[in-house]
Amino acid sequence: MDGGRPMQAVLLGPGVKDRKVLSFKRDALKEKDTVSGLIRSIVATSSPAQRSAFHVLDLAKVVDLFRAWCSALPGVRPYYAVKCNPEQALVGALAALGAGFDCASRAEIEAVLALGVQPRSIVYANPCKPEPHLEYAAEVGVNLTTYDSAEEVAKIKRCHPNCELLLRLKGPDGGKAKVDLGIKYGALADEVVPLLRAAQRAGLNVAGVSFHVGTGASCIDVYRGAIESARAAFDAANALGMPPMRILDIGGGFTAGATFDEATAVINDALAQYFGDLPCLEVIGEPGRYFAEKAFTLAARVIGKRTRGEGREYWIDDGVYGSLNCILMDYYVPRPRPLATPRPGEKTHTSTVFGPTCDSLDTVVTGYQLPEISVGDWLIFDNMGAYTTAAGSKFNGFDTSDIKIYVAYSS
Ligand SMILES: *Cc1c(COP(=O)(O)O)cnc(C)c1O
Repeated sequence: MDGGRPMQAVLLGPGVKDRKVLSFKRDALKEKDTVSGLIRSIVATSSPAQRSAFHVLDLAKVVDLFRAWCSALPGVRPYYAVKCNPEQALVGALAALGAGFDCASRAEIEAVLALGVQPRSIVYANPCKPEPHLEYAAEVGVNLTTYDSAEEVAKIKRCHPNCELLLRLKGPDGGKAKVDLGIKYGALADEVVPLLRAAQRAGLNVAGVSFHVGTGASCIDVYRGAIESARAAFDAANALGMPPMRILDIGGGFTAGATFDEATAVINDALAQYFGDLPCLEVIGEPGRYFAEKAFTLAARVIGKRTRGEGREYWIDDGVYGSLNCILMDYYVPRPRPLATPRPGEKTHTSTVFGPTCDSLDTVVTGYQLPEISVGDWLIFDNMGAYTTAAGSKFNGFDTSDIKIYVAYSS
């Protein structure tokens, strides 16, 4: 990163430098109005044929979030979890800022390498990998991966014998995560020693330990328990006479804002308590949501309308099969607001907003108060970067990848 000018580094960085980047003025007091202004100008200057749903990525938010990460977790390098939002400009911006990457598949590794990221800045953080993907990792020199089963050790030995391992531990229960990953991944306490032994017998080096408390965790005290269990695993490896572990991967689960501040306070405290005697420890994290969520705003166009008595029903050109799949897959609570500035004292109607497909499940909000809007107007959805476009489909011929992403930065 270019000293004190991170935004400059981002604009000249991979995934961004060849893109058209719009700039706009930030109004600290009226944060939401700022992006609305940019969206208005995009709408006004696009031809009628181009007028369909789009996202705006504000790179300045990414820079701010990166800065906040570094100051709250000094020395903890973030490895951005690409699955959360693989948009090139976001990944490239984070690369320019100095992040590493958590990749879970061959295609994610390829995409990150194509941006010029070094293989050593990638953790292949999928505890169960298809063999051809693992062979690819070996080929390109991505040499750090997670595991939580003896079968995976055997597979890694076969396909990528030079790989180092991170033992993925099951996070403690009770984190009230939006999505609990512990149902699927992570060694239980009594599996730790047998899994360390399995790696030892196979002659694979266990470089450290990882965990993930679940995405969107709201009860941040789980980090303390997870760090305590991680220390127990370090000690178990020592007792088995294994080479000293050196990496602690605290995973993801962070949401930017007040919960991040609380979580990092707990983490720093627990790191001092349980790992204070290991000054050479390398601590890394795998944030996804933290960097992506607030950096994207969706503008969706109203393409249909029905008036039923006092109620209003609208159709927009994005829905639960598109980037708004986060409503079903990630428990996103949509709070759309009209792009048009509301007139003082304007009456609202109980409204339903549908997505464009013929499925009735494709409903965005119901019983929601909106002023009267017309076909051709726009609805804005904030915080639309995490687990949105990444998981959309082409159902009914509405292709999520047709949703354009405008790259911008506010200042
Ligand atoms: C999904 C995932 C992440 C990112 O999680 P967030 O909650 O978005 O921060 C990090 N690490 C692993 C292994 C994951 O599966």
